[in-house]
Amino acid sequence: MFVTLPEFEYHRPQTVSAALDLLDQYGGGATVMAGGTDLLVDMRYRIRVPEHVIDLKGIEELGKLTFQPGEGLVIGATVTLNRLLEYDAVQSRFGALHDALEDMCDDQVRNRATLAGNLCTASPAADCAPPLLVFDAKVEVASPAGRRMVDLPDLFTGVKETSLGTDEMVTAVHVPEPPPDVQSRYLKGKRSSEDCAIVGVAALVARWDDPRDRVVRLAYSSVAPTPVRVYDVERIFRQDKPWGDLVEEAVSAALNRVSPISDVRSSKEYRVHLIDVLTRLALRELLGGRR
Ligand SMILES: Cc1cc2nc3c(=O)[nH]c(=O)nc-3n(C[C@H](O)[C@H](O)[C@H](O)COP(=O)(O)OP(=O)(O)OC[C@H]3O[C@@H](n4cnc5c(N)ncnc54)[C@H](O)[C@@H]3O)c2cc1C
Repeated sequence: MFVTLPEFEYHRPQTVSAALDLLDQYGGGATVMAGGTDLLVDMRYRIRVPEHVIDLKGIEELGKLTFQPGEGLVIGATVTLNRLLEYDAVQSRFGALHDALEDMCDDQVRNRATLAGNLCTASPAADCAPPLLVFDAKVEVASPAGRRMVDLPDLFTGVKETSLGTDEMVTAVHVPEPPPDVQSRYLKGKRSSEDCAIVGVAALVARWDDPRDRVVRLAYSSVAPTPVRVYDVERIFRQDKPWGDLVEEAVSAALNRVSPISDVRSSKEYRVHLIDVLTRLALRELLGGRR
């Protein structure tokens, strides 16, 4: 085990364009850092050894956090998990995201760690990913060529791999305003209070009473090389069938879509069991007496 960090040059730009200039200048030898709670651990273990670290926390623009009715949430790339956890609109309208934030890391880590960093790490176990997948989030990406919006599923390309180029960085995460009667939850199976997910399930339900108009979405962490949304369940829940039949079909669709493995946190078999149990539990909690 290495006790110290490898040597690197530290940069603290004050604007997005200055950060992009540094990325352009140093190419693959540079990496951006938000809270550093993933990056510095990887550097200490020599999993990543960048020559240049570009700290984004000095860039004022990236600290914005807003909610506008009709537009939704805009979460700047340096907004910490604790700031988000305390934000009224997250508590009142984005329940699954609030659940995930409450149940991840510890208070000290949440004071540094960011939502953008959680997504850009692209861990299969990233807790913020399933809630943001069910809320149809997009990431705003900047490069010397300009800015573009990327649908969240297209950010994740593999275990700890993203579609971002070496000259690109995420500037914000955009989450559209959900329908007024939306309810959502994130449930996390884990070994201890500060552990990563064995399985995480985000569920969202809106307009339940009319089957043709019904919206039900499910997304998972720790069940495949990337966080996944199971689009098949959306069609399943638009059928006019008894609740029990719909849930059986949804659990089967989820199990068909995922590819869980055995690792230090769980066996593959236990993950399959948790996908089944947590999916049923999340839907039951959301629908209560309405079904
Ligand atoms: C004790 C501990 C407990 C933890 N518990 C959990 C947990 O329960 N659940 C969980 O999901 N995670 C957990 N984590 C992991 C980590 O805290 C989170 O993933 C956190 O949100 C990462 O955010 P950060 O700002 O610190 O990212 P950083 O470490 O700064 O960056 C992470 C990666 O993203 C890249 N990056 C960061 N910002 C950008 C950007 N704007 N554009 C492009 N690339 C970017 C970096 O280059 C790096 O590769 C834990 C970590 C620790 C140390």
